Amino acid sequence: MEPVPYSLYLHIPFCHHRCAYCDFNTYAGMENLITAYCAALIREISQVAGSAVDKLPVHTIFFGGGTPSLLPLIWVEQILETINHCYSLVPETEITLEANPGTVDGDYLRGLHNLGINRLSLGVQSANPDELRLLEREHDYFAVIEAVHLARNAGFDNLNLDLIFGLPYQELDTWEKSVNLTLDLSPDHFSLYALTLESGTPMKHWTDRGLLPEPDADLAAEMYEWAAERLDQAGYQQYEISNWARRTTDNVYRACRHNLQYWRALPYLGFGAGAHGFAAGVRTANILSPRAYIQRMEKSAHRQFPRSSATANLIEVDQQAEMGELMMMGLRLTNDGVSANQFKTHFGESLSDVYGKEIEQLVRQKLLEWVPFEDGLHLRLTPYARLLGNQVFAAFI
Ligand code: SF4
Repeated sequence: MEPVPYSLYLHIPFCHHRCAYCDFNTYAGMENLITAYCAALIREISQVAGSAVDKLPVHTIFFGGGTPSLLPLIWVEQILETINHCYSLVPETEITLEANPGTVDGDYLRGLHNLGINRLSLGVQSANPDELRLLEREHDYFAVIEAVHLARNAGFDNLNLDLIFGLPYQELDTWEKSVNLTLDLSPDHFSLYALTLESGTPMKHWTDRGLLPEPDADLAAEMYEWAAERLDQAGYQQYEISNWARRTTDNVYRACRHNLQYWRALPYLGFGAGAHGFAAGVRTANILSPRAYIQRMEKSAHRQFPRSSATANLIEVDQQAEMGELMMMGLRLTNDGVSANQFKTHFGESLSDVYGKEIEQLVRQKLLEWVPFEDGLHLRLTPYARLLGNQVFAAFI
């Protein structure tokens, strides 16, 4: 049997400015660390590859952040060269880089494309100037139009646009306008996220103090349902709670293969400050601070796979935990859900033996449904349950 190919996630924890709602592991004003950070990243990529028994096959690479488009091309090149040298890239490996409109120009995008980056993910968030200001995004919608135009000219034919809904003061018609305007840009993929107010963020602080209204959950649900219908009409098929993709003219479905790896609970390695990984039955999490990460990787020594000198936390995943995680992640896939046969093959126990009672109850509540596929029955969320995912997932963990 062919070994399951891995996915690689590379975290770039630098931003020009920290947006008001952001709780990612990212830092403003630390761009002077980029060179040392990239050198550390290269050491970690090599260190983990060196501790694996074989040269691992890789089929997706994702530069996430933060703002990966702050990386100079020379470092993107050196990182990709290291990966190419240490891992065995399958033909047509998907290589995504997240970029913020306003941080990229034509030369930079052409450079990325020439280096092999073949998927670009742009953080648009909204087309409305007031909403962008509230989020403290540094770009306006003209910068989005320009970035899409430059990306297409640079050769990118696989583009994702991220949007956020459920903002304080946002109205259904401003949301509709954002979706319609971005549809005009004809990307291959959309990610639509509901705003969550995370503690420690300025936006949470403002709402707690009454300086900003709480987002309206019912209105956010209406926005989600409207967008799902609108994207469906426009030819995009939903495949995950927050993700839609369409087919190209040569019938390639442009779902994000990297994120599918997470949702199918397949192995991935995470490199960089705060990056997470899952491989060989363990979950790893790296140290959060970029400075501490750089220091740790200076003392690079042999570690047992998939650990690195930057690993700060490690959890061994037993079969029961893995089953729970597979349910939680797999049920996010709105079309495929979880295949009963694949579950049985992987764990040696059937879905009904392990979760019979929970499934029966959730099916009775019309939150889950069994659907016939070529390889047998799949269990998935009902359309009604797509906004109630957390309630369903809780039954399995
Ligand atoms: S650009 Fe993205 S990662 Fe950076 S602060 Fe804003 S939301 Fe966070």
